[in-house]
Amino acid sequence: MPHRGTLAQQTTELLQQLIRNRCVNDGTPDSGHEIRTVRTLQQFFAGSGLEGIVVEPHPGRASLIVRIEGSDRSAPTLALVGHTDVVPVEEAGWEHDPFAAEIIDGELWGRGAIDMLNLTASYAVVTRALAEGVPGAARFRPRGDLVFAAVADEENGSRFGVQWLTENRPDLIDADYVLTESGGAHAGPQPSLTVMVGEKGIATRRLLVRGTPGHGSAPWGARNAGVIAAEAVTRIARFRGTTVISPEWRAYVDALAYDTETSAALTDPDRFYDALGSTGALAGFAHASTHTTISPNIVRAGEKGNVIPGEASIDLDIRILPDVSADDVEGYLREALGDLMDDITIEGDLYGASTVSPLDTPVVEALRSAVRRAYPTAELLPMLGVGGTDGRFFRRRGVPAYGFGVLSERWDYGRFRRLFHGHNERIDLDSIDLTVSALDRVVREVLGE
Ligand SMILES: [Zn+2]
Repeated sequence: MPHRGTLAQQTTELLQQLIRNRCVNDGTPDSGHEIRTVRTLQQFFAGSGLEGIVVEPHPGRASLIVRIEGSDRSAPTLALVGHTDVVPVEEAGWEHDPFAAEIIDGELWGRGAIDMLNLTASYAVVTRALAEGVPGAARFRPRGDLVFAAVADEENGSRFGVQWLTENRPDLIDADYVLTESGGAHAGPQPSLTVMVGEKGIATRRLLVRGTPGHGSAPWGARNAGVIAAEAVTRIARFRGTTVISPEWRAYVDALAYDTETSAALTDPDRFYDALGSTGALAGFAHASTHTTISPNIVRAGEKGNVIPGEASIDLDIRILPDVSADDVEGYLREALGDLMDDITIEGDLYGASTVSPLDTPVVEALRSAVRRAYPTAELLPMLGVGGTDGRFFRRRGVPAYGFGVLSERWDYGRFRRLFHGHNERIDLDSIDLTVSALDRVVREVLGE
């Protein structure tokens, strides 16, 4: 077996191919084309004895799942779950071609470089290294199974990816623990690296607003549904709801090492808003970490230029904290809208609870020791993600899932969030090296020998 260079070099080269595959998921079923990356990965694994299984619930929306069987059926199993799709780009906002995967001044540029093709490539490299062994070294034999899953459609709710797998082929991705995106950013002067232990839930709703139609030439005193909707949107935007200080948020504020007064205010529900401004680029994240958020994202009213609309609708993107029920969501909306509720009906019942993984698992221990290998005095900083990842599908089945990586010190959480889905997405080669080395250690430690 030829030696193919270090894990970091292999990851860099594979990541470049994954970026160039341009698996852009624009939300339509015929986008994504993740089959391209499945083929790239099949070539990557060729000759290693790893074949895997391909599923394709819709033409082009393919996922590849590889399992290395362990020697002990009672030993814990681990799945590395990486999505292969990326979100669209606005090319005009980029300084370099988002799909050329050029390395410029030690950084690899391209859509997906940090979300999360870097991890998907690392998972593949670690998996192949485990199967092939290192030339000259004794071959590592895992006790528990290792699963590598390169999955489609994470960027649009995972209908053709992990959701499909959990509903139709749970046997393929079955594992005791899961690693996925998104962790590894730094917080504060004392080194603390983020590990995503859970994420908020979701409850989308539509508000139907009733007015009275009339002629646009005489608007005085009209009950224009568009005007009522505008007032409703404004009230929702101003609504503060309940500030909840979770243990994860408290730990995060501690790690950031603000001055005592700011830290105290940021962890006090009554004074939270006084200090929110001092969090700078983290303000949106700080707010979303401590609130069930309601964002009015689609507002529709009117069809004809001279007719006062009798109906309007507002689509709400609602992200819920742990322990918030569907009834609580309705309560927040009634409180925010007040007397406007006379003209408004709440529609929709979608409810996906927030999910959180335990911290007292052997995997978290392995993550901690891998982080300390890179940063000897570092602490793990458990975080609740404010968006959604494939981790939720596993946590809902009782399988702990952690968002893990090890990034270089240039990555604070503000930069991390800005480049996620942003212009000029890129990753430095040091971070690729740190992450793949850490994953290699974690896999070997968790699966034992
Ligand atoms: Zn992602």
